[in-house]
Amino acid sequence: MGSTVRQPARRVRDLLPDAPAGAVALTLDDGPHPTWTPRMLDVLRTHQVLATFCLVGDQARAHPALVRAILGAGHSVCNHTMTHPQPFSRRPRAQMRAEISRAQEAIVAAGGRSPRLFRAPGGDWSPDVLATADELGLIPLGWDVDPRDWSRPGEEAIVRALSVARAGDILLSHDGGGDRSQTVAALDRVLPALRARGCVFVAL
Ligand SMILES: [Zn+2]
Repeated sequence: MGSTVRQPARRVRDLLPDAPAGAVALTLDDGPHPTWTPRMLDVLRTHQVLATFCLVGDQARAHPALVRAILGAGHSVCNHTMTHPQPFSRRPRAQMRAEISRAQEAIVAAGGRSPRLFRAPGGDWSPDVLATADELGLIPLGWDVDPRDWSRPGEEAIVRALSVARAGDILLSHDGGGDRSQTVAALDRVLPALRARGCVFVAL
């Protein structure tokens, strides 16, 4: 009998059982990015929101000061592989393992904090991906609400998609991987609106 491979966490309380009733988690993928991560940190600080940054190892290695700025502001970090290869689930197990373990080392080297969470590139989960994360002692991190901001659907579309968030949801957005001006502008509007509805943003 092998160990039970857990499914990716999709609810805040999968990861934080004692989270407050209105807890919502914002996750930000594909950074750190020298242009967009500082702007994202400004928006989060303005609205007093804590988030979880799913870091790409190569980016963390290139921009260690940004990793320290993320951690210094009280946010948490998640392993999002070394080079973000896609489709991730089709890679050989050895490559999956190397991508995740190298990213872990790069994030620790940059920021001194060891992520406990792992998110597959593109949310591309498979039994092999889940088993590899488990072997490396990492908890798989999914999401509930996806505004597809990476496709630049427009600020309004991102605001609309994120506005459906309810207590317990994990939200996906990006601070890397391309021009994130729409995402930054949308979050600047939607974060205070969600807080006004009782959402409490927690870092995972
Ligand atoms: Zn990604």
